[in-house]
Amino acid sequence: PRLGEVVLSAEGLAKHFGGVTAVDGVSLNIRAGEVLAVIGPNGAGKSTLVNLLSGNLVPNAGSVHIDGVDTTAMKAHQVAAHKLSRTFQTPCLFEGMDVAGTVAVGAHLRGSVGMLRSSVPTFGSLKEEETLATEAATALNRLGLSRLADRDAKSLSLGQQKQVEIARALVASPRVLLLDEPCAGLNKAEKASLMRLLRSLGREGMAVLVIEHDMEFVMAAADRVHVLNFGSTLRVGTPEEVQTDQDVIDAYLGV
Ligand code: ADP
Ligand code: MG
Repeated sequence: PRLGEVVLSAEGLAKHFGGVTAVDGVSLNIRAGEVLAVIGPNGAGKSTLVNLLSGNLVPNAGSVHIDGVDTTAMKAHQVAAHKLSRTFQTPCLFEGMDVAGTVAVGAHLRGSVGMLRSSVPTFGSLKEEETLATEAATALNRLGLSRLADRDAKSLSLGQQKQVEIARALVASPRVLLLDEPCAGLNKAEKASLMRLLRSLGREGMAVLVIEHDMEFVMAAADRVHVLNFGSTLRVGTPEEVQTDQDVIDAYLGV
C-alpha cells in the first residue's frame, strides 16, 4: 500500500440497540501508514464502531469499504479475508489452546476460511505447518511473548491475553488493524513497547485504529484522533488539536 492511501473508509455508520443509538452517523477514513486513535467517554460507541468496521455487527445505516470493496454486509470472517484484523475489549481466546497455537490460528484469517471453522486447524502440509509455526514465533517475539509460547492462553493475565490477541491479529498480515483498548492490564513499560510497535506497524504501511483511554499513550502513539461522544463525532484532529479543544475537554478530558 502507498503511504497515505485510504485503506478503510466508513460513511454515515449508524447502529441502534432497541431504543439506544450506539453509533449515530459516523464517517472516518483510515490511511496506510497512520495510527488513528478513537477516544471518548464510556458508552460513546467506540466498541460498537469497531464492531461495525470488522463485520461483527451489521449497521442500520451507512457503509464500510476496504480497498474500495463494499464490506458493509459481510460477516466478520469475510471482512477478515479483506485483510482486516482486530482485537476485542474483552479478550476472545480459545479454551485449552497454548499461546503458540492460538497465534498460529490467526494465519487462517488470511484466506477465506472462517474463524469458527478454523478453530480446529487442519493444516495442508508439513511445510505449511512449519511456515505457520515460524510466523507465529515471529509475531510472539514481536510482542515479547516468546517465553509464554507453551502456556495455556486462557491462564494468562488480562494484559498478556490482550497481547496474545495482537500477535494473533498480526499473523494474518493485515492491512487494517483495529485494537479495542489494548493497554488494559499493561504496565508502563509494556505500554511503551506497545506504543513503539504501533509506530513501527505504521511505518510498514499498516492502517491502524486504536481505541484507548490513556491520553499519554494516545498523544505518543497516534497521528490523528477521532473523538466520539454519544455515538457521534465530536472532533477529528491531531493529538495536539484534540487535547486543547474546549468541546473535547468539556465532554471527556476535563472529567
Ligand atoms: P464504548 O466502547 O465507547 O464504551 P459501546 O460501543 O460499548 O461504547 O456502547 C455504546 C452504547 O451502546 C452503550 O450505551 C451501550 O450500553 C450500548 N450497547 C453496546 N452494545 C450493546 C448490545 N449488544 N446491546 C445493547 N446495547 C448495547
Ligand atoms: Mg468499549
